[in-house]
Amino acid sequence: MPSRRAGDERHGRRLAVAAGMMAMQTALAARLADVRARIDAACRAAGRDPAEVALLPVSKGFDADTIRAAAALGLRRFGENRVQELAVKAAALAELGLEWVVIGHLQTNKARDVARLAGEVQSLDRLELAAALQRRLELEDRVLPVLIEVKTSPEPSKQGLPPASLGDFLARLAEFPRLQVEGLMTIAEHSADPARVRACFRLLRQLRESMAARGHVLPRLSMGMSEDFALAIAEGSTEVRIGSALFGPRLPNDRV
Ligand SMILES: *Cc1c(COP(=O)(O)O)cnc(C)c1O
Repeated sequence: MPSRRAGDERHGRRLAVAAGMMAMQTALAARLADVRARIDAACRAAGRDPAEVALLPVSKGFDADTIRAAAALGLRRFGENRVQELAVKAAALAELGLEWVVIGHLQTNKARDVARLAGEVQSLDRLELAAALQRRLELEDRVLPVLIEVKTSPEPSKQGLPPASLGDFLARLAEFPRLQVEGLMTIAEHSADPARVRACFRLLRQLRESMAARGHVLPRLSMGMSEDFALAIAEGSTEVRIGSALFGPRLPNDRV
């Protein structure tokens, strides 16, 4: 009976998809446990409480099924660096109620989608973007937690506000009350020398301290990625952004 055979084939395909999902979830659970253990170890080595360091899974370059598997393990917030990619995944996974965190360089013309879809932006780096977000957030009638991305690395390819501009920038952000400034974010220099990497993280912590002296309270420091999070935790990171150590390698052009 052809219809019976078609039904069997559909059933077989569904079983294969379910088995694939389970295998992915098992692999992901193992990598998540490993990352959490390494975060705990870095905290112990630094004399810190692991509860002070949040894990932000970075799902850029991975599909909605992978995020679904991660959500089944209890992960609720996901970092994405392209708004277009974020929008596709947010639509595909709408029923899960996940929070999307923008961590990549943001064009001003993406402010509308960000105001609608993002739970937070960690890559605020210029007033023009702050103004665009403020306008769109007023229309959506919401406030948006933001971190300011600071360029702590000498590499020309890296984004972010120059450290010397941070004080004035924070003062100007008072004009944009829909942005709730909670801290600083940085991407360290890509270097084999741990001292150079760590110097970037130290600079971000010192900037937070000097801003506190000027009355700007910035509790959160988002710093540390798969390759360098232990150094970031040693320098006071409150949030590590982990992609490849959790989800596996990405294609080369999906790097930062
Ligand atoms: C891709 C990315 C990460 C995660 O990088 P991994 O090395 O895969 O852990 C963290 N932060 C930003 C801003 C990124 O773009």
